[in-house]
Amino acid sequence: MLRNKIFRKIIMIVVILSAISYSKAQNKDLPNVVILATGGTIAGSAATGTQAGYTSGQVGIETMIAAVPGITDLANVTGEQISNVGSQDMSVEIWLKLANRVNELLSRDDVDGIVITHGTDTQEETAFFLNLVVKSNKPVVTTGSMRPSTAVSAEGPLNLYNAVAIAADSKASGYGVLVVMNDQIHSAHGVTKTNTTSVQTFMSPMHGLTGAVIYGKHEFYSKPHGIFGLESEFSIEGVTSLPRVDIIYTGVDSPADLVDMSLKAGAKGIVIAGVGNGNMNAATLNACKNAAEQGVVVVRSTRVPTGYVLRNAEINDDENKTIASDELNAQKSRVLLMLALLKDRSLEDIQKLFYTY
Ligand code: ASP
Repeated sequence: MLRNKIFRKIIMIVVILSAISYSKAQNKDLPNVVILATGGTIAGSAATGTQAGYTSGQVGIETMIAAVPGITDLANVTGEQISNVGSQDMSVEIWLKLANRVNELLSRDDVDGIVITHGTDTQEETAFFLNLVVKSNKPVVTTGSMRPSTAVSAEGPLNLYNAVAIAADSKASGYGVLVVMNDQIHSAHGVTKTNTTSVQTFMSPMHGLTGAVIYGKHEFYSKPHGIFGLESEFSIEGVTSLPRVDIIYTGVDSPADLVDMSLKAGAKGIVIAGVGNGNMNAATLNACKNAAEQGVVVVRSTRVPTGYVLRNAEINDDENKTIASDELNAQKSRVLLMLALLKDRSLEDIQKLFYTY
């Protein structure tokens, strides 16, 4: 009897405590932000705080949220682990899982924004991919860090705080996917990683910053370039894989057989990281022309960090059946081409995509 009474009391206390913690977690005056964690250095750890060596993707999302003081004053924050990999191991499989989850969450009335934590190595590619396939105008923000969570002056917690502040702001709607790192807001179209180790690595050389953020207070400067979000014609509904597209980096006396090998390996597209304005030596161009004649779509991009690759400049794209990447670097050209090749398109149509996305 006494036992029963004690048991009932314990149950009551548990119910009351969970009601209190639920009402704290679900403050109805705050927006609801879901953090989808994929891994990266922001979730990395090392044996000491001052060593260069560390392992990406070690720390779980709940630990990352707990490390950010004040984050729950910005929004009702919940976390989900999508993957826990260094972004060098980001894959199409994870992309599709992530993008489907983002679309699912954003279709709900009780989700106002999404933050994605991600390694910095391929963050620009994931951000650009999501920019093209997310079917919502609600804020989607990716972030990460250059220093692992165990480092002296790890910048991950502040980056995550800033990312949540922006994802929680309805005024961040309609900007497509944003990359928030080191107090700066970048568009998925414009951003690129420019330094291997510095915390000031992300820059938007062609279009400049989309905005700035200081301890969560933020301001937008300009609307991102290109088509994205609800206006994008790309969809991953029912998609389970993406066509193979290879990037071939060129230089002095580059071997043309790299193109032949790609063709043989079954690539449906090839992106040339050309010299200068998307140039390549005669042998490589010849191999590209041959690949194009066999139905492989060849895009001329560049290894130069800024500037356009112009159609029919030094290389005659009409004659060689090649596409000029316009202002997309090789890695983003690859993302766009992978999506473009999901359906049959003429070369003219694909060239238009490079002018508009
Ligand atoms: N290799 C790491 C990654 O991309 C680097 C980083 O996150 O900064 O996951």
